[in-house]
Amino acid sequence: MYQNGLVKFIDDCAHEIVDFTGKLISTPSLTPPGDERRIASLILDKLNGLGLQGAFIVGELPERPNVLLRLCGTRGTPTLLYVAHTDTKPVGTTQDQWESDPFCPVQKDGKLYGLGAADMKAAVAAFVYAAAALKNTGPLQGDLVLALVADEEGGGKYGAHYLTTQYGLKADMALIGEPPGVNREWEFLHVASRGLCCFNLKIIGTQMHSSLSDYFPSVNASLKLADLMLRMSRDLKLNYTPHPLSPNGVTVNLGVRLKGGVYFGVYPGYAEFGVDVRTLPGMKKETLIKDVKDFLCERHMADPSLNVELEIEAPPLDWIDPTEVSEDLPLVRALASASKEVLGFCPPSSIYPAATDAPKFQLEAGIPTVPAFGAGMISLAHGPNEWVGVNSIVQACKIYALAGYEILK
Ligand SMILES: [Zn+2]
Repeated sequence: MYQNGLVKFIDDCAHEIVDFTGKLISTPSLTPPGDERRIASLILDKLNGLGLQGAFIVGELPERPNVLLRLCGTRGTPTLLYVAHTDTKPVGTTQDQWESDPFCPVQKDGKLYGLGAADMKAAVAAFVYAAAALKNTGPLQGDLVLALVADEEGGGKYGAHYLTTQYGLKADMALIGEPPGVNREWEFLHVASRGLCCFNLKIIGTQMHSSLSDYFPSVNASLKLADLMLRMSRDLKLNYTPHPLSPNGVTVNLGVRLKGGVYFGVYPGYAEFGVDVRTLPGMKKETLIKDVKDFLCERHMADPSLNVELEIEAPPLDWIDPTEVSEDLPLVRALASASKEVLGFCPPSSIYPAATDAPKFQLEAGIPTVPAFGAGMISLAHGPNEWVGVNSIVQACKIYALAGYEILK
């Protein structure tokens, strides 16, 4: 049975897969500043070592390399695309909260700790070894393309966006191996992903000597900001159709950044706050912005001294599209049945809470894309003590290999 062969190949390599994940962790690839040269060459060496010849690098900038590999099938159709990003967010201000060195992989209680363990160096390793297992089973009919991309954490301009636009990458369906769990590993199979809309609200008041605020008519911009934010949290209504897979609906995060005032002695004449909205499939930027403008208009009518201006954030944060694929997409079905085989169950379909590279593949290149499925938990990403289950990495590899076979055989 082909399945036995694939699973045996991966079982035989289980230690190597985990070890390679550790090597990826100990090779920093932070965005910002954004430089994946070292990790790309580590991946190229591994692919060559596994007999997966023909991998190459493409990219707009030398320091933002994307590694591509095509395993050619006998018919060249369909083409299945497996995607993982090679970069991570920086450690940031959490250095002292890490219990181990973020760049030194540590195994403890069945967990592999390190920066990018879940998001998403485990997926890079799992895809590489799944490709090796598929190559080992002999020729398939369709093509498997691995895209190990740069710059996802910076918005994807030099990674996924470069591949779908300038490079012209094509495929019939794609899977991104983002960590799908929120409360536990293997919690969901995400067939959709929420989008993102970011904007700032700028409030103008009266800047003057603060000792004179009772002498002259004055508007305290900081106070107006506080009042507006509280009212928005209670009263802002966005128009959208609820989604059956998203019980929490849309999230409006007020004050993700705040700025205002000058110094003691200066009456605050200016304040601003940032808002990030996590949107659902079906929502449109124009409608959302109109809802916000209508709300601000209402507030201004109720309080004419409120002088507020809406500024939409610069691209790409102005609007990242939500995406969705059908649960009947052959790749979704193949992942579901491979999960049953490997995990003993199929995680329920869901909407990924965060934005991913999926809109670039799906909307720029027309490739139906499963936005997140694999080892790890999104809730551990971008924070201290990130980990991925050691066994989950190997399970992910098996699921990717079995589903790949199902699609390409
Ligand atoms: Zn990620």
